[in-house]
Amino acid sequence: MLNLLKRPKCKNSLLERCIKDPITAQRLKYQPYYHHFDRQEGAYVWKGNKKMLLLSSNDYLGLNSHPKVIEAGQRGLSEWGSSSTGARVANGSRRYHRRLEEKLAAFLGKEDCHVHAAGYLSCMSALQTFAQRGDTIFVDKNVHSSLWTGIHTSPAQVEKFSHNNAQSFESALQYAHPKGAKLLVFEGVYSMEGHIAPAQEFLSIAEQQDCFSILDDAHGFGVLGQQGRGTANHLGLTDQVDIICGSLSKSLASTGGFIAGDRALIEYLRTHSKQTLFSAALSPSQAYCAEAALQLLQDEPQHLERLWSNTAQYKKILNGLKLDTWGSETPATPVVIGEKLKAYRFWQALMEAGIFTTISIPPAVPPKKDLIRTAISAKHTQADLDFIAETFDQVSRKIF
Ligand code: PMP
Repeated sequence: MLNLLKRPKCKNSLLERCIKDPITAQRLKYQPYYHHFDRQEGAYVWKGNKKMLLLSSNDYLGLNSHPKVIEAGQRGLSEWGSSSTGARVANGSRRYHRRLEEKLAAFLGKEDCHVHAAGYLSCMSALQTFAQRGDTIFVDKNVHSSLWTGIHTSPAQVEKFSHNNAQSFESALQYAHPKGAKLLVFEGVYSMEGHIAPAQEFLSIAEQQDCFSILDDAHGFGVLGQQGRGTANHLGLTDQVDIICGSLSKSLASTGGFIAGDRALIEYLRTHSKQTLFSAALSPSQAYCAEAALQLLQDEPQHLERLWSNTAQYKKILNGLKLDTWGSETPATPVVIGEKLKAYRFWQALMEAGIFTTISIPPAVPPKKDLIRTAISAKHTQADLDFIAETFDQVSRKIF
């Protein structure tokens, strides 16, 4: 293991700060993150010779190794090469970008869409592009880092409200800047908690108050709604949401992000978004993979059906073991342990027994919500679910 403290003494205070950073030191000591795998097959990964069932992947529909997705990626590579060679605004725009955008817009029920090389860029740009000085952003306090980065780089005033709490949103509205625009920011499905947003309540308040709405549906897209059209479709609210942004790296088994809305909004974004103007366009193979996966959402409903039947069975297993899943309603399912050391021991015991999950501790989650983040996939088989049931039982007995 790299021992940073053994680096030669230096005079550069910034380097010294990094070397002495206690959080990095702790990460390197306990090694809960950045595990790299040497091999992957289906829902399994290998670290050296150790085989583990992956139970924290965002590949909800299991399309990562679908032959049509692989074939499309290879076609993208052979037709266009490895790179888009530049930003969309300059020389990086290609027919396959527009094709993907048009298909995504139609699928989501929006007029237009723009894709980026990462969901982080799409979600960040949704805030930084539209929120201006004098505006007020109302944001669920549990939203993803990409939205916070967008919020923090915009000059707008920010008012946080309690997670998934429409009353708290409504009362925060009294602090709106009197003249500027109001923007509501929330997620469809919260990846850490597995909660679905009370979007109906949020949007009816937003509508009464003339408040623009931005929905990050990275974890709802492909999972909820007709054929996986997402949270807004699931709740019959597509027309009420102004912007839907998200990622191509979850259900669409690619990398990249999207932002969809009225044509006027998306054209404005193409003029003003720094993440769009100054970053290279989505690569050909990733665009082709996302397009193929999007087609599979519509042609092969069995993946979504399997995802939900696996989800139901998985929740039954965890509930049977009296594990706290924080009221998760979706495939993203936390197992709340509530204490750092215990959470670490639980996570490690799962790994030793052959199940790979992710650990999350405050400040990434609220105090006393130290948890193991898990996600079930359409890829998991009945044998995998039996293995999960047996292993969680053993590990729970050992740790509690
Ligand atoms: N929004 C949410 C809610 C996410 O969970 C993520 C990724 N974990 C992103 C945005 C960013 O997506 P990407 O990984 O494609 O950059």
